[in-house]
Amino acid sequence: MTREADPPSAGPQQITGNILTPRGWIAGDLRFHDRIETVAARTVGQPGDGLPLVLPGFIDLHVHGGGGADIMEGAAALQTAVRMHARHGTTSLLATTVTAERTDLERVFSEVAPVIRQRPSGGARVLGIHLEGPYINPEKLGAQPDTVRLGTLEEIQALHTLAPIRVLTLAPELEGHFELIRALRGMGIMPQMGHTTGSYETAVAAAEAGACGYTHLFNAMTPMHHRAPGMVGAAMAHAEFAELIPDLLHVHPGAIRAALRAIPKLYCVTDATAGAGMSDGAYRLGTQTVTKCGNGIRLADGTLAGSTLTMDDALRNLVSIGLPLEEASRRVSTYAADYLGLQDRGRIEAGAWADLVVLSPELKLMKVYVEGACIELADA
Ligand SMILES: [Zn+2]
Repeated sequence: MTREADPPSAGPQQITGNILTPRGWIAGDLRFHDRIETVAARTVGQPGDGLPLVLPGFIDLHVHGGGGADIMEGAAALQTAVRMHARHGTTSLLATTVTAERTDLERVFSEVAPVIRQRPSGGARVLGIHLEGPYINPEKLGAQPDTVRLGTLEEIQALHTLAPIRVLTLAPELEGHFELIRALRGMGIMPQMGHTTGSYETAVAAAEAGACGYTHLFNAMTPMHHRAPGMVGAAMAHAEFAELIPDLLHVHPGAIRAALRAIPKLYCVTDATAGAGMSDGAYRLGTQTVTKCGNGIRLADGTLAGSTLTMDDALRNLVSIGLPLEEASRRVSTYAADYLGLQDRGRIEAGAWADLVVLSPELKLMKVYVEGACIELADA
């Protein structure tokens, strides 16, 4: 299950198509091994001559599971999930944990660590962990289990030693969390505000302390009222980055459009749970049972419990509400890479990882490459 198991490639691979580069569309040829070698133009112009579209692979910084598997179950479940998401165009992701007891988190971190070091064959690259909870507000649990607690640097450091945390969602208004935010930035972890009752003023102060993102913007946070702008208002007024779930269930398209105008590098995540890529039925989310029906997945009381979104649908949803394809691509790939400070993913240029999706002009996924390895799409 490591990249050593991939069949050796005889030489550089080549794709011809309308290629989206950081400088715009190029009709031409892309040559790559595990990294991109050359992007050679034939003619420069807009896409539209029937050639396939070649975009940077999707990057999803908030994934709990997929393909029937919940990442909290451990390494085998993670491998199932990353294979399912790769079949939908995700080339790298953050394995995202839910609120759990410390011993459960330590077990999951220990099991996930080898998968982060070695890309699973046929799956998306796991860039690290998004620790979503347990340091969240019990009044804004969403679908998170009720084992929340105040964060301590000691616990975070212990987990970070087991496997690298890249993003940590916390509620900034809780006691001691401003100090945590300052410490996390020093550890290279992005503190993100979410599952929070914090006010506009709290969010602005937390951002000054180093909090740098918002977790599933609009969901499980104080909404924007014109005399109490809340977390959402702080994000709209000040944020450069925020994540959003564009399944068109979690957030109304009008609110998505407002956020897109306000937040320069708003990027999309799936918040996908085990039911993503599966038929309707009952699935696990941490210790809870959730039910998938249509595009929604919910707790017994009707609360949305993550999503069943995949990133190819996220791209199509953004285009369906009016985004140009170039901008939609940046919001499902490039900006997430920028957020993590990764210059060699989320863009098609020489030297970057060959993380690629090839789509028909109608945006149907045709091919996916993760670090140059072609993903089998047969049962996508
Ligand atoms: Zn989540």
